[in-house]
Amino acid sequence: MRHSLKLISGLGEKRITILNSMSIHTIEDLIRYVPRRYIDRTKVVSISEIEPGDEYTAIVFVKSAHVIPGRMKRLLCKVYDETGDLEIVFFNAATYMQSKFQEGTRMVVSGTISDQFKKSMIHPDVTMLDPDEKYVGEVVPVYPLTEEMKKARVEQKFLKKIVTQAFTIPTLKNIDEYPDVIMQRYSFVEELVNLKRLHAPETMSDVHIGLRQLKLQELLPFTVRLAQRREQLRKHGCLRAQSQTLSEQLTKSLPFTLTGSQSSALQGIFEGMNQDRQFHGLIQGDVGSGKTVVAFCAIADVIEMNMQAALMAPTEILAWQHYLAAQEQFNALGKKVAILTGSVSTNDRKQLLNELANGTIDLLVGTHALFSKDVEYNNLGLAVIDEQHRFGVDQRAQLLKKGQCPDMLAMSATPIPRSLTMSLYGDLTPIIIAQKPEGRKEILTRVVPSYKREGMKTFIQKEVDEGGQVYWVVPRIESSEEEALVSVDDLYDELSAYFNCSVAYLHGKTDEEYKRETLGAFNKGEIKVLVSTTVIEVGVNVPAATVMVIEGADRFGLAQLHQLRGRVGRGTAESWCFLLSESENRERLDAFSKTNDGFDIAEMDLSDRGSGNLEAYDQSGVRAFKYFDFIKDFDLIEGAVSFSEEILTSYRNEALNSLGLVKGWLSKDETITHEIS
Ligand code: ADP
Ligand code: MG
Repeated sequence: MRHSLKLISGLGEKRITILNSMSIHTIEDLIRYVPRRYIDRTKVVSISEIEPGDEYTAIVFVKSAHVIPGRMKRLLCKVYDETGDLEIVFFNAATYMQSKFQEGTRMVVSGTISDQFKKSMIHPDVTMLDPDEKYVGEVVPVYPLTEEMKKARVEQKFLKKIVTQAFTIPTLKNIDEYPDVIMQRYSFVEELVNLKRLHAPETMSDVHIGLRQLKLQELLPFTVRLAQRREQLRKHGCLRAQSQTLSEQLTKSLPFTLTGSQSSALQGIFEGMNQDRQFHGLIQGDVGSGKTVVAFCAIADVIEMNMQAALMAPTEILAWQHYLAAQEQFNALGKKVAILTGSVSTNDRKQLLNELANGTIDLLVGTHALFSKDVEYNNLGLAVIDEQHRFGVDQRAQLLKKGQCPDMLAMSATPIPRSLTMSLYGDLTPIIIAQKPEGRKEILTRVVPSYKREGMKTFIQKEVDEGGQVYWVVPRIESSEEEALVSVDDLYDELSAYFNCSVAYLHGKTDEEYKRETLGAFNKGEIKVLVSTTVIEVGVNVPAATVMVIEGADRFGLAQLHQLRGRVGRGTAESWCFLLSESENRERLDAFSKTNDGFDIAEMDLSDRGSGNLEAYDQSGVRAFKYFDFIKDFDLIEGAVSFSEEILTSYRNEALNSLGLVKGWLSKDETITHEIS
């Protein structure tokens, strides 16, 4: 049962509306609106310890108090303790305040010394003390407030007051219940107790303990589910006798030799697939590191065992690119490749599904269509998922359900920060491709303000004259949406008039066949400049492209910029990435332009966006974590992972019956056959 906000006295319609706009609709929501930070006034320092910046609390005596007239009329009060002197200042203070500060008065002041007014504490909080009064102090919660809240006078003191009232409601109950044994084992207390610790802490250690428990309680169901998935993989699978003949043939037919990184990645995959349990791997390699051919080799290995493989990509463009490359490789080996996307005609589709069901097709490449309801595989042995961050856990699961314990290889666009790998992908075996093929040059990245735009165009014309090709990416389609930003149409007009070469455009709304043809022509070098939205973001591989121009670069996340930049620098020629930006704040883009290292960028991106806003995170099926933070709480993950293993071995039934089922995290063992959720 949820309680109405109306139960709180003194909370009128207007303020309720404001609270509603902050997603606070019930008492239960209100007590989960927790402070963002705290001011610790339990810690008393002496004047000599006070430095500019932080807030300090000191017990002092008044020496004198004067009103200083003038434009900035202020009350200046000199105070001292046994270690030194301090000034406290109140601007526009009424004269009556002066009388509060009698010489010799003992009082507590809490405030900040600014760099600007050295040695002065401006507008501190002041509490008068009797000569012998013992000062206990308090930890003052600071709630996040919006301008609207302030306007409606929903402020710190008010929030504190209504939250205190909320906790007095006798029927208030915990929402999330952990089984008793687990509560006892990890010394967890009820959620309500922890929430109270956050709203009305006696000391900062209350806050730390409360937060830690809430974070762990939030994380555990998730890591238990990971542990359960890992366990499932151990139980099911199929043995593959390995000869790797087909895979070796494929490697021999390539125009290059595999890099050391690719070979050892492949070795790791073969070892994994060769065990009698299911193998789920996560291939992590920077853009351009050559993940596709590694996947092809793994696919060849499965086909050799007379099983089928599926290769799923997030866009039609990418699916087609993979299809064409796969055809080239596998047709030469006498194996049949087909493509299935949303735009395959009904007739073709019917025939394709037949051939898939009777085993004629060895490799099916495609988009989400690969796991449509009516798609039946004869014997799916391996599912490869490219750009896995574009797919949700559920979508992965749906594809895997099409086979009996198939192996899986997920390929990740950019490296994933370790905290995410551990907590989101803990069920996947990491396969790392650390180096790129030799001969690749660093992509030179420059931030370009608008006054340098024409100069950049001159430069690009020269690049094109020397055989280079250009991607020119725009963040949005509609020009009406934001005036400052160019649209594909406008840009196409501008560039086709300017450049002395063939210019074409692509965007999300152009139909798939046109997209394919245009990209094909770009690939053949018939088109030199391609204006496009981010439909080309992932995976597109045109080695002759050497220039990437990104309009409105500020609007992209760093990982996405890295993906876009990764479209060039795929051949041996010098490549360029130009980030067009009007923003004053260049720090982010400058930092980005200084590194080509995907791991660095992944970490930068994580702290840049904050963990609540991650693509991988949105897709992972995790409900939004309220307390746990992937960046700040890295140190909690390891503990949660080992707690989870212990929960599964020692408290399995309790977890499954309560924690898991209540939250829908876990499924009962019996109901799982070979399904990986
Ligand atoms: P990504 O890891 O970003 O998916 P791709 O698999 O698309 O990268 O490979 C990028 C390019 O590098 C392709 O043109 C591919 O043919 C080429 N490539 C892959 N492996 C090698 C290698 N060992 N030597 C040279 N070129 C390679
Ligand atoms: Mg790729």
